[in-house]
Amino acid sequence: MCEFCHKHGEGQKWYLRAENYSEDLLSDLRRRKFIQDFFRSPEQDRDSGGGDRWEKLERAPSFVRSVITSMGVNRQKKVHYGQVVPIEEVERIFGFVNSVVRLPCICRQVTVGSEQRYCYGVSMVPQEESQFTRLLREIDASYLTGPNTRGLEALSKEEALASLRELERKGLCHTVWTFVAPFIGGICNCDRSDCEAMRATVTHNFPVMFRAEYVAEVNPELCNGCRQCMRVCQFGAIGYSIAHEKVVIDPRRCYGCGICRSLCTKNATTLAERSSVPLARGVW
Ligand code: SF4
Ligand code: SF4
Repeated sequence: MCEFCHKHGEGQKWYLRAENYSEDLLSDLRRRKFIQDFFRSPEQDRDSGGGDRWEKLERAPSFVRSVITSMGVNRQKKVHYGQVVPIEEVERIFGFVNSVVRLPCICRQVTVGSEQRYCYGVSMVPQEESQFTRLLREIDASYLTGPNTRGLEALSKEEALASLRELERKGLCHTVWTFVAPFIGGICNCDRSDCEAMRATVTHNFPVMFRAEYVAEVNPELCNGCRQCMRVCQFGAIGYSIAHEKVVIDPRRCYGCGICRSLCTKNATTLAERSSVPLARGVW
């Protein structure tokens, strides 16, 4: 299990613990302020460096780079950190939360500069009573309230799951996010080209999310070598064996998102617990 399971999960997967979604955690003023600032100023991220920040970090001497990365990652773990979750785990989360709102992704607002509705705010409390939703609605964030936005959309859990499955077919990877740990307020859908969090983690070696608690495996008896799964793997974990005319999955690279399954017509890929795969155990 990942570090957060040990810290915030009390023996279970931390994101499946209903207490971590509890609105009681919003009585912490520091957490409320963090949420308000996070949504109020998406432009700040771009103005304070954006892509340039990574170039500067990569140019820095290795000692400086490692100190900055370690301090930055430790800070992120306290305030806003994520984990990849396959769709089955999202279904389990939806089994105990009681309201879902869809909103524009703040990451894409920074990287693409347009509204991409990939984020889902979740709460244990029904929509009309949810402090978290009220907090989001009260924020005068131009990206939520401008003329070209639909703001917050209330969705039923069924609608939200259908839309998440659709995003999965497009290759987007589901992730859960803290807003000052251990409070979990959202599920997002990440990709390596536009999602700042995934770019930081995978491209720039500045992790802001854990891999999933799972790893994908391929059954060579079922695989016909069509390579469709390779198209959607964001992590370069799938290779093709010309000799065997089948794909192979590298467990050391796999993030366990399960997206490769969405395009496999042969049901050849499945997820195994990360802890049961020696090469992936302990790789987060
Ligand atoms: S999509 Fe399925 S059948 Fe096609 S290569 Fe991948 S695992 Fe094999
Ligand atoms: S191989 Fe691993 S990382 Fe790649 S899509 Fe499948 S589960 Fe995700």
